Amino acid sequence: MNDIKKSPDSPVCYIKGVGEKRAKLLLKLGISTAADLAGHYPRGYIDFNDVTHIADMINNGENYAVKAYVTKKFPPYYGRVNIFKVLVSDGTGEMLITFFNSDYSFSRLKLDNEYCFYGKAAGDFLRKEMHSPVFINAYEPNKLMPKYSLTTGISQGIMSGCIKNVLRDFEFSDNLSEEIRDKYSLIPYDTALRWIHFPENKAQYDKAKYRLTFEELFVLQLGLKSVKNRNKRLSGAKMEAKNTDAFYSSLPFELTGAQKRTINECCLDMQKQVPMNRLLQGDVGSGKTAVAAGAAYFAYLNGFQSTLMAPTEILAKQHYDTLNSFLAPLGVNVALLTGSLTPAKKKEIRSLIASGQVDVAVGTQALIQKSTSFSKLGLVITDEQHRFGVSQRASLTDKGNEPHKLVMSATPIPRTLAMIIYGDLDISILDEMPKGRLPIRTYAVDSSYHDRLYKFILKYVQNGFQAYIVCPLIEEGISEKAAATNYIQSLNNTCLAGIPIGLLHGKMKQSDKDSVMQDFKDNKIKVLVATTVVEVGVDVPNAVIMIIENAEQFGLSQLHQLRGRVGRGTEQSHCILVTDNKNEYTKQRMDIMVCTSDGFEIANEDLKLRGPGDFFGSRQHGLPELKIADIYADLDILRITGQAADEILKNDKHLEKPENSCYLKMINKLFENSPDA
Ligand code: ADP
Ligand code: MG
Repeated sequence: MNDIKKSPDSPVCYIKGVGEKRAKLLLKLGISTAADLAGHYPRGYIDFNDVTHIADMINNGENYAVKAYVTKKFPPYYGRVNIFKVLVSDGTGEMLITFFNSDYSFSRLKLDNEYCFYGKAAGDFLRKEMHSPVFINAYEPNKLMPKYSLTTGISQGIMSGCIKNVLRDFEFSDNLSEEIRDKYSLIPYDTALRWIHFPENKAQYDKAKYRLTFEELFVLQLGLKSVKNRNKRLSGAKMEAKNTDAFYSSLPFELTGAQKRTINECCLDMQKQVPMNRLLQGDVGSGKTAVAAGAAYFAYLNGFQSTLMAPTEILAKQHYDTLNSFLAPLGVNVALLTGSLTPAKKKEIRSLIASGQVDVAVGTQALIQKSTSFSKLGLVITDEQHRFGVSQRASLTDKGNEPHKLVMSATPIPRTLAMIIYGDLDISILDEMPKGRLPIRTYAVDSSYHDRLYKFILKYVQNGFQAYIVCPLIEEGISEKAAATNYIQSLNNTCLAGIPIGLLHGKMKQSDKDSVMQDFKDNKIKVLVATTVVEVGVDVPNAVIMIIENAEQFGLSQLHQLRGRVGRGTEQSHCILVTDNKNEYTKQRMDIMVCTSDGFEIANEDLKLRGPGDFFGSRQHGLPELKIADIYADLDILRITGQAADEILKNDKHLEKPENSCYLKMINKLFENSPDA
């Protein structure tokens, strides 16, 4: 029994202070074993070194740390709520502290002893107060107190108590070999755990943070890189060089240098022994679809089928139109397979794909993946826009005999970072916009401009152009549909009354969305009022105005994606950000949008303003959730762990050696929480 208890895998309920009831609560935080509990790192720390004088405290809703003596303990008041009051002083002033129902805290505070308190300032100018602060003895050497993410029923005190116990009763063996620890100057895992929870000083915290971040990123990269190795099976669609001039000369425009380079990279990849596995990153409007067409044409010349999968039906239809217009004149048979086709039609198209009469099959991901078989699939292209998943990518191979893969993404992340994160993909970047594009003029205004905006739209509509208006949810509790419908109704009282206006929101049936979108493309609808569903890759070059209401509610990258819906033709386009929010943060963000048109730069600014946690926390990247590392902030460590991972994989490509089996276990654990797993 004793042995079981000492194993880090033993259930958390055996830990002193936990028990059955708290074990259930801890499960909500994903904690089920001793090791999980020890791995529940603090979100931050209260720094009791950094104290404020009571005289300097102001009641502004902020938390303060105060070091003071207990000068008086009032008799407790026992009622419906039990109230305990203590008066403390630090020589600059007095502060009244109140605890509710916690005689435990009250009894721990001894008269004339000095403590460090931490809590929100309350009271007023004359009387400083603090309610239910946390506190430690002032003579305690460890002045950094951990703050944990919690769940109802588990307070900070309980959590840190349980963690203290687990650290006292267990020893945590190291997952990293001594060789790695030596080489990269890492402290032992067990020490790191103790120091991350209860650091006595900043230096201890730093060392622990480094060690644990290193381990997490090392496992991440080992995982990503070994996927890359796994994909290195022999290509089932090895191609040879072909003359693609016909493609270039039949296009309605001259490809950019970046597009040509990228198509070339794809063609070279497809001639190799191993299948292509390439990520194509390009800002909105950089012309990724034409690259897909070029690659598909090359596969066609080699006698192979291609498929292009899109996240939505609207996009599938759009890609079909584009590919068909580029490739049909060259004799390529392009087909569209979508959910809205009749069952008979679907069946017919599927049989044409199966018999090899269709050269390029375009459809939604679900439809293509589910029950479509190909006669000779050589190239799988996915238009991911932003969504991205490691395990999803790995499963795409199923359809053909080791086909080539090209993933298109508009996720703007710096190249160095992308190379590391997407360790299993080669990367091409479209860093050049098609010629003749006028930069979109962007303005930020407040809602007093509405009348002028509508007149502005009207003028363009009268000249044959179109506009988007994006309306986000304004109040909580109002449905997306209601918000958008109300907005459209309000337009009846403006100069836009009588103009054909369409509505697009996420709750609409797919077929309704498609028909609205089609009418907009056909210029039957002049103004499209939409929620953010227009964000993904829709291409209507005749639309030249984008109005974004409540622009402060969007992230910068999202605003950039929305703005990218216009500026796709040769006419000068305008993007107008409407916000009544006057705070400095909003102003800064709007300024960036007004001044910057480069998606990568905007993503960087977004990172700076919001902090990387937010940016990457939104799971845009489909990476596993990291507990302590921050891919952006820890870029330097990421570089080192990349090398460390390479060294391991150099001698053990698939992590099959016994000494590396623990890494495999850690990889599985990390990726098991991955969004697509
Ligand atoms: P995205 O990279 O955002 O998916 P698209 O592939 O939808 O961009 O292309 C945006 C628009 O630019 C389309 O209308 C497309 O036909 C056009 N386009 C693409 N490449 C060029 C080019 N080299 N010159 C001019 N227009 C181009
Ligand atoms: Mg696109």
